[in-house]
Amino acid sequence: MSNDAKLTRAELEALTEETERALAGRFAEIDRTAYANTGRILRAFREEKVSDSCFAGTTGYGYDDKGREVLDAVWSRVFETELSLVRHNFGNGRHGLSTALFGLLRPGETLVGVTGKPYDTLDEVIGISGANGDGSLADFGIKYAEIPMAGGISGGRIDIPAVRERLLQDSGIRVVFVQRSKGYMNRRTLSPDEITELTEAVHSVRRDVMVVVDNCYGEFTADREPKADLLVGSLIKNPGGGMALTGGYITGTARAVELCSYRLTTVGTGREVGATLGQNRNMFMGLFYAPHTTAQAIKTAHFAAYVFEKLGYDVFPAWDEPRFDIIQTVITHSRERLCDFCRGIQSGSPVDSYVSPEPWAMPGYTDEVIMAAGCFVQGASVEMSADGPIRPPYTAFFQGGLTYESGKYGVLEAAAMVGRNKD
Ligand SMILES: *Cc1c(COP(=O)(O)O)cnc(C)c1O
Repeated sequence: MSNDAKLTRAELEALTEETERALAGRFAEIDRTAYANTGRILRAFREEKVSDSCFAGTTGYGYDDKGREVLDAVWSRVFETELSLVRHNFGNGRHGLSTALFGLLRPGETLVGVTGKPYDTLDEVIGISGANGDGSLADFGIKYAEIPMAGGISGGRIDIPAVRERLLQDSGIRVVFVQRSKGYMNRRTLSPDEITELTEAVHSVRRDVMVVVDNCYGEFTADREPKADLLVGSLIKNPGGGMALTGGYITGTARAVELCSYRLTTVGTGREVGATLGQNRNMFMGLFYAPHTTAQAIKTAHFAAYVFEKLGYDVFPAWDEPRFDIIQTVITHSRERLCDFCRGIQSGSPVDSYVSPEPWAMPGYTDEVIMAAGCFVQGASVEMSADGPIRPPYTAFFQGGLTYESGKYGVLEAAAMVGRNKD
């Protein structure tokens, strides 16, 4: 390769070929996972007799909505849970998580985070920030505590002995909260088995304590899902397969999901109401696509990891590491390169590819942020997207890609704009 920061077209082509040769083994594993998960989904569709009549929507109260009931049952089979609540009515992932926490916790009880602080957007729900009197968990007398992860933040393991100890000491603990994906934190993403191990440990000490998992970005990255009292996620990420137009899900034990359904609608009506307004078809089709779409996003992430590592950047996870979510970070070490990265991703997107993102002061963030998103569904991060706060070390968080082919175009466009790291 030449010594210029910018790559020639021939160099980019050579790098692409090298990358795909190196990734062939990983891609075969990703295909095997998608195949296994698709099998699970097809079996569930057959067992629950998914048919054309499930796609008709209801209006008004939405009583006896066949599609809604069958979709919930399919979801429970796929996630190996007892009951599910899959609804377009969830406005975002935090709405599902908030519903779960308010559904399970009662005044005087304690919520314990065991993977560091939950996703930033939950701060106001819990009452860590925001105004008194807004109706956060804290306003209702629900306490919040954290048990730090073991092995430092990058070692990132749940400190199971510390969790057991705490559960024995504090009888007020009602919910143990786990975030599977690293999200925007600098730690490992947890595997399904690590979370299942936590659930078993918690229940061996206290059967009355419920484990709630923020499963966002993790679904279908492995051939199984974590075992817990509740799994919660967003349908504009992995399990919506790029088809769901909005929504979220809560799935888990019958009692825990029932309590959440009383919070989403009302005590008494629970899962029995909720018009689906023609959204069922997209959600069924999205679940059908989800293992494949997730595989496309993971391949795109591996491709980006390899290419940017070769160009001299620190990437996380590395291209040859297994993945349990779809997020790739690339440390660009300069404001200009972070912006170029996002501009490359934007110009390689199918929608709004002609616009050039600029950093801006977003409400609720301390630093300016730059975002690239050229999506069919607003804010859908199972679609290719990138963002990063404008502060050292100028890290780009990159995720999604509905098709590997289009993801590849996006990554190469970004590589062409950012060039080699010459620092
Ligand atoms: C996306 C996400 C959420 C939910 O975010 P919303 O913007 O409310 O959909 C929560 N936790 C994690 C780890 C996420 O990635």
